[in-house]
Amino acid sequence: MWNVEVSPECIGSGVCAGTAPRHFTLGPDGRSRPLATPTAPDEAILDAAVSCPMEAIAVTDSDTGAPVET
Ligand code: SF4
Repeated sequence: MWNVEVSPECIGSGVCAGTAPRHFTLGPDGRSRPLATPTAPDEAILDAAVSCPMEAIAVTDSDTGAPVET
């Protein structure tokens, strides 16, 4: 399983929610948040992390805590 975190650097661009709508949504504060974490590995999460203009999305292995390569 993967842990997905969005840091406070998020500027609410919505790119992640557009790229991976099953995994991210914009909250009432205008920032993104993961819809589920931990979650099963999905390439779409990494696509969103790479696309984020603020590099605000961190994906780690929920067993080891190691960063998942994007
Ligand atoms: S792509 Fe990055 S900056 Fe844009 S809403 Fe998602 S986490 Fe925030």
